[in-house]
Amino acid sequence: DPILEVNNLFASIENLPILKGVTISVNPGEIHAIMGRNGCGKSTLSKIIAGHPSYKITKGEIKFTGNDIQSLEPEERAQSGIFLGFQYPIEIPGVSNLEFLRVATNARRKFLNKEELDTFDFEDLVKEKLDLVKMDSAFLSRSINQGFSGGEKKRNEILQMALLEPKIAILDETDSGLDIDALRIVASGIKKISNEETGIILITHYQRLLDEIQPDYVHVMSDGQIIKTGESDLALELEKHGYEWTDNFIKEQ
Ligand code: ADP
Ligand code: MG
Ligand code: MG
Repeated sequence: DPILEVNNLFASIENLPILKGVTISVNPGEIHAIMGRNGCGKSTLSKIIAGHPSYKITKGEIKFTGNDIQSLEPEERAQSGIFLGFQYPIEIPGVSNLEFLRVATNARRKFLNKEELDTFDFEDLVKEKLDLVKMDSAFLSRSINQGFSGGEKKRNEILQMALLEPKIAILDETDSGLDIDALRIVASGIKKISNEETGIILITHYQRLLDEIQPDYVHVMSDGQIIKTGESDLALELEKHGYEWTDNFIKEQ
């Protein structure tokens, strides 16, 4: 059964319609890529799935492991296994990255009926996972978001994902602004974390990431709809022809 089902979803922000009938279904073990011009609604879709309060769903539904999630708070969604790369809305001086990660991980573990980890046990777990993203442990003692470079934030996102073991992970432009080495590290981290039980949605503009991580499906979004779905060769076509090429597609549903 699908982990995530978005059915004919319409959503607005401040009465402005942004999503205009999005349908997507992600099964365990599948990797989906969503591509599309700036402003077409990709981040909106991911934020709505995560439960961002600013958006209003006007039609349609989102089901996670078979249940409508509309009444769940963002924290409940995260704990039940919906992961959206943390957005770092504000810098939080004084809270170390390690402590921040521990709180989030323990909230998830509680949901999974796993025991809470104290600082020492958690450090052991983190050190195991740090290797995935080739991060130095000094990184853990820094304050949240203070002085993290773009690349460090993205690696931290993958580290968070490794710790939380989500059922569905949405990575919104995790690859943007990365140099080639960092991109490879992030890609290999994602690959190591992906497994038969987890669904992954990669939102990206770049073929580079999809060279490293072959998606099962590629969706093209335009003006709040998915106008075309294909396999990984669709991304190559897009790379070749640009989004203009997709303008003529009639919504296929
Ligand atoms: P993408 O991630 O595909 O670039 P977004 O989901 O960020 O697109 O944005 C989709 C559309 O919603 C854009 O036209 C954007 O201007 C609009 N939008 C996003 N957030 C707001 C907001 N807070 N208020 C008004 N319009 C917004
Ligand atoms: Mg697969
Ligand atoms: Mg976006």
